[in-house]
Amino acid sequence: MSEEAELFRENVRRFIAQEVQPHYEQWERDEIVPREIWHRLGEQGLLCVDIPEAYGGPGADFLFSMVIVEEFSRANCGGLGGPMAVHSDIVAHYLLNNGSEAQKQQYLPRMVSGECVGAVAMTEPGAGSDLQGVRTTARRDGDDYLINGSKTFITNGQHCDMVIVVARTNTEVPGSRGTSLFLVDGDAPGFQRGRNLEKIGLHASDTSELFFEDVRVPGSAILGELDKGFAVLMEELPRERLALAVGAVAAAEGVLAETVDYVKERKAFGAPLAQLQNTRFKLAEVATSIRVNRAFVDECMQLFTAGRLDPATASMAKVASTEMQGQVADACLQLFGGYGYMREYGVSRAYVDARVQRIYGGTSEIMKELISRSVLA
Ligand SMILES: Cc1cc2nc3c(=O)[nH]c(=O)nc-3n(C[C@H](O)[C@H](O)[C@H](O)COP(=O)(O)OP(=O)(O)OC[C@H]3O[C@@H](n4cnc5c(N)ncnc54)[C@H](O)[C@@H]3O)c2cc1C
Repeated sequence: MSEEAELFRENVRRFIAQEVQPHYEQWERDEIVPREIWHRLGEQGLLCVDIPEAYGGPGADFLFSMVIVEEFSRANCGGLGGPMAVHSDIVAHYLLNNGSEAQKQQYLPRMVSGECVGAVAMTEPGAGSDLQGVRTTARRDGDDYLINGSKTFITNGQHCDMVIVVARTNTEVPGSRGTSLFLVDGDAPGFQRGRNLEKIGLHASDTSELFFEDVRVPGSAILGELDKGFAVLMEELPRERLALAVGAVAAAEGVLAETVDYVKERKAFGAPLAQLQNTRFKLAEVATSIRVNRAFVDECMQLFTAGRLDPATASMAKVASTEMQGQVADACLQLFGGYGYMREYGVSRAYVDARVQRIYGGTSEIMKELISRSVLA
């Protein structure tokens, strides 16, 4: 990373220490962050950092965005960092890369400032990994479309001011050829937010059901081309998966650092835990796995910056690093003994928050399917 990016990292760290960590426990109890934090993030220049100046963004490069992902993950604040990545690294880039000029001008400056929180709604009660099974429809009605259906597990579902909705626009052909993306405003008549779902981890993030009943949108709300929504989804996957991998490695680094401090302090049988061979071997294993994954994920960041990160390699990074994160969190929690199981110790949060990383953004099994196709090609 450049010196400039490292200076930016210091700012992100300071912001987390001063404005996130002191309130984070309360946000976890509330099961949502306050809406105002999005405005603060915008004021501090921490949203959509690699969106060009023409759309109100700072116009920094991709690595600055990854600095944010890393620092929120390392600080064990994934319940805010994850939703920020959905907003900045997914929704904003869907718009930047596929939106019309009018769409970009309408949404991006407000996403940069935190005035408009973005969400993306693909998953449905009956369709997650298999997005071709999406049942939400958008039926043509004059110049407009009427959207009907329901979505679930949507990050930022409660706070979003705009949601990108994946809907079938042609049910006569396979989903890959008859699906479109629509930009739907949070106050559109017929759009309803369901429950903020209760999760086992990432408590501070809001995750919701969304309902669409005859939601009327103009044809100009289509993002990209009609019936070609799948191509947009596929194109953006490498960046999404890389961001998850970057977060996974940083989260593992964070939990290792916390564990090292603990085992030096905590005594058993008259000596610090750090002197037990099992502790030393476990830490050696964990540190080695993190280092190996760090090297690969750094390589993937370079490939992405050069425009050369292919979907299979991004999937390798996602599956390897998120599986590693889960193993690291589990091994570290064990070294804390009973204290590791208590909410007041950060390692317990790192453990539950790690679990979903192997599920969202494409499950580990789906990653292996994709990788195997490229291996066998
Ligand atoms: C906290 C959280 C936040 C989320 N945020 C969003 C969001 O913002 N937007 C959004 O659209 N979605 C979101 N999701 C949904 C997430 O992307 C899906 O949960 C995920 O894609 C898996 O889909 P599913 O839950 O329907 O599981 P299923 O697809 O039903 O899978 C169940 C099991 O079957 C396995 N499986 C499925 N197909 C195959 C196959 N071909 N080969 C082998 N195994 C297979 C899976 O790997 C899994 O183990 C979120 C989920 C969570 C938990």
